[in-house]
Amino acid sequence: MPVLTDTIAAISTPPGPGAIGILRLSGPDAASIAERCFKPLGHKSLLEHKPKELVYGDLLDSGGQAIDRVLCTYSLGPNSYTGEDTAEFQCHGSPMVLTLGLEALFAAGARQAKAGEFTRRAFLNGRLDLAQAEAVGDLLSAQSREGARHAAGQLAGALSRKIGDIYSALVDVMAHFHAVLDYPDEDIDPFLMEELSTTLEEQEDRLWKLYSSGHRGSLLTQGLKCPIVGRPNAGKSSLLNALAGYDRAIVTDIPGTTRDTVEVSIQVKGVLVRLIDTAGIRESGDPIERIGVERSRAAMEGCNLVLMVCDGSVPFTEEDGTLLEECLNRAETVLVWNKTDLSSAPVPFFYLPEELEEHLHTVSVSVKTGAGLEELEEAMRTLAEEFFPRAQEESYGQLLTNQRQIEAAELACHCVRRAREALEAGVTPDALLTDVEEALSALGELTGQSVREDVTDRIFSKFCVGK
Ligand code: GDP
Repeated sequence: MPVLTDTIAAISTPPGPGAIGILRLSGPDAASIAERCFKPLGHKSLLEHKPKELVYGDLLDSGGQAIDRVLCTYSLGPNSYTGEDTAEFQCHGSPMVLTLGLEALFAAGARQAKAGEFTRRAFLNGRLDLAQAEAVGDLLSAQSREGARHAAGQLAGALSRKIGDIYSALVDVMAHFHAVLDYPDEDIDPFLMEELSTTLEEQEDRLWKLYSSGHRGSLLTQGLKCPIVGRPNAGKSSLLNALAGYDRAIVTDIPGTTRDTVEVSIQVKGVLVRLIDTAGIRESGDPIERIGVERSRAAMEGCNLVLMVCDGSVPFTEEDGTLLEECLNRAETVLVWNKTDLSSAPVPFFYLPEELEEHLHTVSVSVKTGAGLEELEEAMRTLAEEFFPRAQEESYGQLLTNQRQIEAAELACHCVRRAREALEAGVTPDALLTDVEEALSALGELTGQSVREDVTDRIFSKFCVGK
């Protein structure tokens, strides 16, 4: 365990006035520095109180002058977030109080904490592994209920336990291989070989599933990509505004005014959906509009679902039919039959190949009056849920959510597969050992057991100061 000799301090609440402002300290002198900057109201000093007790008193500035009436608490390592001695002041959320308080902590011997340094210390002191530390970051930036639940599960160790099980099965395999190497003249028990091969196969399967979970995990944090397409003036920008609940896109009645793409993230049943308002997709002679049309096609790349908006007060054209097929070829599509307030024209019948028809969901709406919008949200909910089948409580936190984790799982899976295939082909155990060792090291990167410092630097630098 590394020994960190300096004590760090930071303001842990966001900038600006607020109900509460928190100053935080961690390091060997945290409690004594806090004691010097705090005058309890009672007769006992801070350190005469028990750890984790909330003590009421005055926060003192560097001149010893009271600047706020606050609550202070200290904890002794290893029973703290960072695993070191820590202290915390809960002040009034005044930027001036927090600045003066921080200056006092510096004057008493602390130094400014860097971004993510508290969590980094928790990692270095073994209070969290790297997957859990990343979960702290995911929790802070979660934009949907499902994203937050997942991050909380990962923080509680769901992913780490899953990786730990695979790790320990592979360590067992290593132990057997080593035993074989130690007695090279003895014949290997064929039952043992079969057992090892089965274990490798099981781990390969678990790693493959883990790796594949990265796709859903990324969708959870980044959101389902959902372009809104359709002819100019169909009501795409109006729909985006209605779904987002505020005027994000400019709505005009001159066709072709949404020339660029506008993106808004919304929550649909706890799932993050990124709505992308595109310029009308249609053949166009206007060069600026053509660029917009190209952007629209680009917005449809890799989309997870599509909303195609049609103006129900004008006839459905061949052009609309072509666009609809293009959408259906890419993803589940909701045909939003808009402007029903203008005409009660029913959704027209159009021929679609059978394999495309099953991906079509139609909803009639009037964005203007709000009629049908609830049905539309319901349709989107059903489609969004298909990406995240009703999550069981225990499955929260077991998905990979970033590229670093996905790459490590892929490498581990690849190495285990190589080892299994080699074993089945009768290759000697020493050759297999390298593969299994490589798989273990990839898993170690996932949890941070064998991760390089520049990788951890990158992870923690994304955190805010004070976390
Ligand atoms: P876009 O070009 O597809 O983004 O279309 P807009 O959202 O800019 O809308 C074009 C015009 O249609 C605007 O004047 C809107 O107010 C109007 N509009 C949009 N939805 C409705 C609707 O449900 N009913 C009526 N009557 N007008 C609508």
